[in-house]
Order: sequence, then C-alpha cells, then structure tokens
Amino acid sequence: MKREYRICSRCIMDTTDPDIEFDENGVCNHCRNYEQVAQETSVPYYEGGSKIIQDLVEKIKSEGKDKRYDCIIGVSGGVDSTFVALKVKELGLRPLAVHLDNGWNSELAVNNIEKTLRTLNIDLYTHVIDWEEFKNIQLAFLRASTTEAELPTDHAILAILYQAAIRQDIKYIIVGGNHSSEGILPISWAYGSKDWRFIKNILKRFSNIKINTWPYFSLLDYFYYVYIKKIKSVRILEYLSYDKNEAIKILEKKLCWKYYGGKHYESVYTRFFQGYILPQKFNIDKRKCHLSSLICAGQMTREEALIKMKDDTYPFDLQQADREYVIKKLGISESEFESIMNLPIKTFADYPNNYAFFMLSFSLLKFIRKYGIKLRSH
Ligand SMILES: [Zn+2]
Repeated sequence: MKREYRICSRCIMDTTDPDIEFDENGVCNHCRNYEQVAQETSVPYYEGGSKIIQDLVEKIKSEGKDKRYDCIIGVSGGVDSTFVALKVKELGLRPLAVHLDNGWNSELAVNNIEKTLRTLNIDLYTHVIDWEEFKNIQLAFLRASTTEAELPTDHAILAILYQAAIRQDIKYIIVGGNHSSEGILPISWAYGSKDWRFIKNILKRFSNIKINTWPYFSLLDYFYYVYIKKIKSVRILEYLSYDKNEAIKILEKKLCWKYYGGKHYESVYTRFFQGYILPQKFNIDKRKCHLSSLICAGQMTREEALIKMKDDTYPFDLQQADREYVIKKLGISESEFESIMNLPIKTFADYPNNYAFFMLSFSLLKFIRKYGIKLRSH
C-alpha cells in the first residue's frame, strides 16, 4: 500500500524512506536516533573532546615511535578526509595516506589530493584497480537493481585501509566518518559495506569475473583485523566539534583546496549515481539525509535546507554529460543503460546477506559495553 506523503517537522526526511516513523509532534525516528547517537559518540571539543584527542595522540605516538608511520588515513580529495589529513598533521602524527583509484576520480579530486599531501608533506600509497575488473563489478551491482551500487567502492576503501595497516604494522586508522554531517542515513537507501556474503552473492549472480585487483575482505578477515590484530578505526572528527562549512573555509585557506559541489561528488560515478540514478530510478534524493544531519547538528536551518532542495540535485547539463560519459566508460549501449534503469527495484533483503548477524552482534556489543561500564563503576 502506498503511504501518504509526509515530511518530518524538524528535519527534511520524508516518506521516500519507506521505514520512516513519526511521533505525535511529527518528528521522525531519524531525528530521535540522531540525538541519541550524538550523545553516545560525539564529545564537543571544549567539553572533553580535546582531552580525548590529546590522550589518543599520545597513545598513537608511543605505539608507533619506532615505525616509519604511526597511523593510516584515507584520502579521497573530499572535505572530511582532507580535514582529517590537516588535523592529523597539526597534532604531530606521522600518517601514511591511502587512496583508492577506481577509475572515477574527478580531476578536481586528484588536484585536491596532490595539493594537500604536498603541502602537508604526507606520503601516499595509491591502490589502482584494474578497470575491466572494476567495470564488471560495478555492472553486476547495477544489474542487481538495489541502492547499493556504490558498495564496491566503499568496501574496497575499507579493505585497503585495513590491508595497509597490516602491511605497515600500524594499529590506528584515522577516518573522516562523523555523526554531525552523516548521522542520518536510512538503511533502505544504502546498506552496509562490510557484508561480504551480500557482495559475494551479487557478484556470483550477475558477473563471472575473477577477482584480481579489487580489494575485499570476508567477515573472518574483518574479525582478524579488529580482534586479532587489534586495529582501531578512530573517528577523530567526533571530538573536534566538526562543522563542515567551517572546515571548507579552513581547507580553502590553508591548502588552496577546492570544493566540488556536493557530498561525495569528488567521484564522477558517485555524483551520477547519487544525483541521477538514485533519484530517477529509486525516488531517493540523498541530499535529504545529508541536509537533515546538518539540521540536527545545528549547522543549517530547516528553511535553508528546503530552499536548497528546490535546486536540481546537480546542474542538468552536467547530469547529461555524466550520463553520456558513464554509459561510454562502462562500455554499455544506451538501451542497456535504459534497461538497467527500468529493471524492477530490489532491496538488499532480496539477496542472501548477513544483516541479521550484524544486528545481533551490534546489540550484543552494545549490551556488553553497557554491562562492562556498570561493572567498573561499582
Ligand atoms: Zn526528522
């Protein structure tokens, strides 16, 4: 049954998320969840965040003192990861930057990375995926007809970060993930990038490729990285009172970095997937969750967000140019692309996955943490 259209009274999330729920004041579950997670994960800089960072930096420095690098950072040329690079250097750490070249980087992104790393004097390791291989992986995900077409990139980025940490014997990966600008994202719009069972099944069903250069990790590998090698992923921006607009200004001033016009638009494919395929095929506009996160963080008003939503996802001419470019680069015909756009819509739940397992582990970890804290306080 089709739901009647409704939008949250506090943010701009609406019934295009099929699972959205509203309370008696018309406030959605994402707003409520945002508050709760913010309390659990983010510590404002002047209310303890600075102390957390100071302790962390000391630990990273002492554990890495005899090594060439003491931490790993990922760089995409985007705001969050560039800001992390700047902060990590300001804190006196010695990072190795890791970058994934999946063939879709915009020129602006590449320039941003080069300028940033040169200015900050950071070494770079780039992992290049064979284009024919990656093209077939991307096509498999497009043919699976779910919203997870970016998963091959997101998963590979995680893989190269962990693999670089193992190679360099480093325990810390400092990531740009942050609740303030990314806290809201419905699961039906993008399912997790660590689910190897889901990924493996899509590839088996929609391609016959042999994986050679595409980096991946299984659930067992993930346990090995996190619980045996004890590699920690640190979300440093959670302790810096991270404000995206402020960050952009700082990067432009200190690194001559240039903005590329939308969250994750540093990649042509991401820009096209988020700004064209998702809205046209799935009726999903990811700007809604990005802007809603900023509203909940107090970095934008609801009115400002609603005005922004009146614009096209990105300029129409560029959408058309990207469409032509993507079709050509993927090596498919115009009619094949149209048939992909017209495939019946599926969700990750239509394919074998580990969702139930992840949910159970997540609840269990949460319970253990809570119980552990209680034990210590007695
Ligand atoms: Zn809301």
